[in-house]
Amino acid sequence: MDDAGQPGGPGADPILIVGAGLAGARAVEAIRVAGFEGRLLLVGEESAAPYIRPPLSKEYLAGRADRDSVDVHPVGWYAERGIERILGHRAAVLDPAAHQVTLDDGRVLRYSRLLLATGASPRPFPGPGASLPGVHYLRTVDDSDRLRAALAEGGRRVVIVGSGWIGLEVAAAAKGYGNEVIVLGRGAVPLQAALGTELGGVFERLHRDHGVHVGNNTDVVELEGETRGGGTRLSGVRLADHTLVRADLVVVGLGATPNTQLALGAGLAVDNGIKVSATFQTDNFDVFAVGDVASVFHPRLGHRLRVEHWANADTAGAAAGRAMLGDSTEYDAIPYFYTDQFDLSMEYSGFGELARDAEVVFRGDRAGREFVAFWLTDGRVVAGMNVNVWEVNEIVQRLIRSNVRVDPRRLADESIALEDLLDPFPGTA
Ligand code: FAD
Repeated sequence: MDDAGQPGGPGADPILIVGAGLAGARAVEAIRVAGFEGRLLLVGEESAAPYIRPPLSKEYLAGRADRDSVDVHPVGWYAERGIERILGHRAAVLDPAAHQVTLDDGRVLRYSRLLLATGASPRPFPGPGASLPGVHYLRTVDDSDRLRAALAEGGRRVVIVGSGWIGLEVAAAAKGYGNEVIVLGRGAVPLQAALGTELGGVFERLHRDHGVHVGNNTDVVELEGETRGGGTRLSGVRLADHTLVRADLVVVGLGATPNTQLALGAGLAVDNGIKVSATFQTDNFDVFAVGDVASVFHPRLGHRLRVEHWANADTAGAAAGRAMLGDSTEYDAIPYFYTDQFDLSMEYSGFGELARDAEVVFRGDRAGREFVAFWLTDGRVVAGMNVNVWEVNEIVQRLIRSNVRVDPRRLADESIALEDLLDPFPGTA
């Protein structure tokens, strides 16, 4: 530390970022932009340079985007900024008292400040057969390449276990290659936990209209293989009612769990993610965490929130980099994400937990899948989702942030500009 308590004084240990995903990449970028000229080190388990994951279940999986397009920064960007990278190595042990991290090859890295941006990993199928040949998970670009190779042949029977975002996006890509696609989920509709029954139903109809078979209220208990010619290959998925659904290929999309092992081993506070303040600080002064792995105090909610979205890794990653240099600005962004499935594109902003029992108000053409849905709690917008309608996300976010009470009839009325709803006393100015 130098005199100002900032990392990176002469002879100081480097700033270390563990996890070379989007959050880690944005953090190193922000640290350099803020003028830090000391040693800066980025360690990542994957051998690839930081890349973005959303295309891996969308345009990249569908074969419409090339490999370079998913990189966060072009080749050479890191070296040009004097950012040292150690890729293809896992940080195995963190010792906060000694200010050091030990890598899987035994190398010891000292740090002045450390950021944990280790992301999340797919939740494995909880029953037998979770890793049979022909069972796919999707997190990395290698996973996406393998899955694409399997789907691109077409004419196969693809069963997707889990009707969340990744399951549905993969279903759309798989269908695009001419496969028979079956999506099985526990909810009454797909995306029930994320969007509720009404909006989940919009996605169910979308998929059915494109020929996807959707099985709701379905519990898959086993992924089954058969032994043939000395090897075992996937035969199908077994349901709780004993039915066997035949499959050539299974994709498991059951969500992700945060990679908290390093933090747990170091005795840092963890509860569904590494617990951090609104400036990304853990209960150890020099250790920070951000992205999918972090449960961040949110000033608006008054408690911690773990967000598994691209936009969070993007902006919070940068904010965490600045926080490591002493910036005390609290991070209070409204969670945002998007999806593309068949001919439907949507953006969602808001607090899912507040939207759970909220009133849903529609504006626009629901049947034609061109609308904005608003979730209202106590007359206030807590979340909004624009489907095939553009340039409204910013005003949706302003409505949420304003906390102003709105009249649901005016919200639904397309002749009234959404901006006008920000004024609680229209016509009195
Ligand atoms: P990650 O991207 O997971 O990066 C963490 C990195 O840390 C990984 O490379 C990991 O290997 C590495 N690591 C872990 N442990 C260690 C260790 N001990 N040592 C060294 N390195 C380690 N979000 C959206 O908002 N919209 C979407 O449409 C969307 N689509 C998605 C599609 C897919 C297929 C996936 C997988 C995710 C999608 N997401 C989407 C979520 C979004 O990609 C994540 O929120 C984002 O990647 C989180 O970034 P991160 O940097 O926190 O973590």
